[in-house]
Amino acid sequence: MNIEYPLWMEIDSQSLYTNFQRIQQHLTIPDASRIIGVVKADAYGHGLESVLLLQKWGMNRFGVATVQEGEALRQIGIKGTIYLLGGFIDQEIPGIFKNHLTPTLSSQEEWDRLNSAVQTNQQVLEFHVKVDTGMGRMGFLPEELNESLIAQIGHHPYLHLRGVMTHFASSENNPNYTHQQFEVFQNFLQKISHLNQIPIQNLEKHCCNSAGFLFFPDYHLDMVRVGIALFGVSPIQDPSPARSLGLSPVMRIRSRVKHLKNLPSGCCIGYGGTYITQRQTRLAVIPIGYAQGLLRRLSNRMEVLIKGQRAKCLGVISMDQMMVDVSDIPDVKRGDLVTILGPDGADEIRAEEMAAWAETIPHEILCSFNRIKNRIVV
Ligand SMILES: *Cc1c(COP(=O)(O)O)cnc(C)c1O
Repeated sequence: MNIEYPLWMEIDSQSLYTNFQRIQQHLTIPDASRIIGVVKADAYGHGLESVLLLQKWGMNRFGVATVQEGEALRQIGIKGTIYLLGGFIDQEIPGIFKNHLTPTLSSQEEWDRLNSAVQTNQQVLEFHVKVDTGMGRMGFLPEELNESLIAQIGHHPYLHLRGVMTHFASSENNPNYTHQQFEVFQNFLQKISHLNQIPIQNLEKHCCNSAGFLFFPDYHLDMVRVGIALFGVSPIQDPSPARSLGLSPVMRIRSRVKHLKNLPSGCCIGYGGTYITQRQTRLAVIPIGYAQGLLRRLSNRMEVLIKGQRAKCLGVISMDQMMVDVSDIPDVKRGDLVTILGPDGADEIRAEEMAAWAETIPHEILCSFNRIKNRIVV
């Protein structure tokens, strides 16, 4: 492959396909329609082309954070249900109708605003209700949804209630809290079913993100909302949950050696001189920096792969460049392939490992690479 860019992202479409299949197989009732592919933030930095692939393979439900993201999906030809997981501000309401998005409601005020919008446009809109069971973010508190409000939202000529959802705060590391949240959700569902206002069995009930999907198979309910797992990455710094399900990373970041030099011992490397060579060092400069999404926090910590071997980052990451130590890799030449994320030979740099270096979660690693606009589907 002769790519003319100094830095590019490869989208491994085979892995994306396999991940979609594996996730279906792991559901209690395997069915593509029971998966909401969460593709906010440009599909976790992978770009919208991957959403089109998923649609081609049968995915028909997608989740986004904003109306603008939903509109971008409609513009590229996404036909299925698009859930507006992140709520909305009033200025976004026309866009919800225009793009036939499915909002998730968090308050009486949101309901009132949608209600007054349909008085004018008389357009049918499906929506879900979001219940805050302990996330402390969007969603109705269970007690806010009283009998009269439920009667209203359950029977409306234009606004059609199709589902009820909640979101876990700590499904990746706190099973007790997750069980508690699930119980609050179940109690809420029971409460509304006893009110006999709406046929609860017809509603789509869902609560699992990737961690919920991986660690709480009993909580899959009618649908799961998977983001990071779809892209083959664990929601935690340990890659084994994704690996053991047969998921593999979709995103790869590659570059080339731009410059090489030999430095004696005792040289300062980069801004602030945070690294001083301890020996004669062969240094390689790579054209990626924090402007391309390489978190500065990774400075002096991360490693890249060159010829299948690891080269350590030396000094702080600059805006568009970084330096690595290639002293122990024989025969590195200008133009040699550099793998920042992904496999090379027998070794592999994973987003989970990068997240550990940067003391963050793999989600942030993937999203930050959204700044790399040279994307190649392989
Ligand atoms: C982002 C998001 C998800 C997906 O989270 P992952 O950890 O990437 O699977 C699911 N549900 C909601 C409401 C979200 O905002």
